[in-house]
Amino acid sequence: MDNFKIINNCMRESTTARKAEKLSAVKGMNDILPPESARWEKLECAVRVLMRRYAYENIRTPIVEPTALFVRGLGEVTDIVEKEMYSFEDRLNGEALTLRPENTAGVVRAAVEHSLLYNGGKRLYYMGPMFRHERPQRGRYRQFHQIGAEALGFGGAEVDAELILMANALWRELGLADVSLQINSLGQPDERQLHRAALIAHFERHIDVLDEDANRRLHLNPLRLLDSKNPHMQGVIEAAPRLLDFLGATSKAHLRLVTSILDANGMSYVINPRLVRGMDYYNLTVFEFVTTRLGSQGTICAGGRYDYLTEQIGGKPAPAVGWAMGVERVLELLEEQNTTTSPAAVDAYAIVPEASALPLAMACLEILRANGVTVLMHAGTGGAMGSMKSQFKRADASGARFALVFGEDEIAKGVVAIKALRDGDGAQVVRELAAAAEWASSLQLAT
Ligand code: ATP
Ligand code: MG
Repeated sequence: MDNFKIINNCMRESTTARKAEKLSAVKGMNDILPPESARWEKLECAVRVLMRRYAYENIRTPIVEPTALFVRGLGEVTDIVEKEMYSFEDRLNGEALTLRPENTAGVVRAAVEHSLLYNGGKRLYYMGPMFRHERPQRGRYRQFHQIGAEALGFGGAEVDAELILMANALWRELGLADVSLQINSLGQPDERQLHRAALIAHFERHIDVLDEDANRRLHLNPLRLLDSKNPHMQGVIEAAPRLLDFLGATSKAHLRLVTSILDANGMSYVINPRLVRGMDYYNLTVFEFVTTRLGSQGTICAGGRYDYLTEQIGGKPAPAVGWAMGVERVLELLEEQNTTTSPAAVDAYAIVPEASALPLAMACLEILRANGVTVLMHAGTGGAMGSMKSQFKRADASGARFALVFGEDEIAKGVVAIKALRDGDGAQVVRELAAAAEWASSLQLAT
């Protein structure tokens, strides 16, 4: 059925008396509702403050990108490109498009397209939804969210270390415990080439334990085999030749500088020679922050250096390094540790018994809000505002500290009655509407 017919049918359905069928969200894609969304905002706020301290600037790129960006950037023989992308054709011109499965490629594309690196490096960060067609489970969704940091145009190990320290500062800020850092070096392409041959020879000797994916990838992209989650293959993966043993002096020195900066900052880490990443674009430093408290979805943040990606997508060569963290996993870990976020506090609830008082009352509320007061206004039911009693009930339920009563008598005198709902014993004061800007601060929480 073409789209036009679908739209037509929907319209017909909505105009008939028959009750429309309930629609629900796409499998693996979540609504983030209050009060849960308050936890998201808190995390995002902490990230913004942190990024400012490290002088990373915000970048926002489109959610839809040309499919070629990911095929070329991430590598054809990767889980994401082979099986996980939401790709479609543009209806009008047939262009191959994809919902972004990650955002490093998009950020690099934007930096190249707008010549962001013309006078040196750029430190950037982003937040937003990503899309991968995976089997939904705890910590693994089809629409999920990443916060990412990318330092483009910097080749030195100090920036790798800066990024790792920055992520660690975020865990500290959030009070996240039980997170450990694993780090490895993937060396340079020539070193990888030597390791590749050794890797193929090793896996060929154990061909009987390789699964279908591994068999297919053995000669296409053997490094990918190290990333396999198949429990039956872990033994051979463990015994495979280590890339670390193939590194030359320069690559080793790079890793050593990263780790000595971490040492000087008292950060603990494990060098994990088996650590590889799911995308082809990485070289030298790669790292993951992992926790044992989220089952098999234990990686909360992952990244590394990708010095060849810019060239690969058509830009001038520029070294770069970055990480991306899974927001859902970080929040799940926080919840696991029982860090609670109190619901957003309301300073005052506006009680308006008669609709005729609304114009003056709402003018007053605007002044209060402009002066920093959080005000929840009672909403009526199409003209009728509801009894005083029912409005007070709502005010109580809202958790507000004060009720602002805009009754007929008050309005006639140009005042509002302010009643304490939480502390004091229902003490009441009367304030001039015209002077709202002056008494506004007396309603605010002392936080
Ligand atoms: P995994 O090995 O768990 O599949 P990945 O290597 O595919 O992760 P990256 O592409 O490096 O993950 O993305 C960085 C982070 O984004 C991950 O460490 C994880 O926290 C998060 N992430 C990745 N895929 C998902 C998903 N489908 N749902 C929720 N979070 C995800
Ligand atoms: Mg994955």
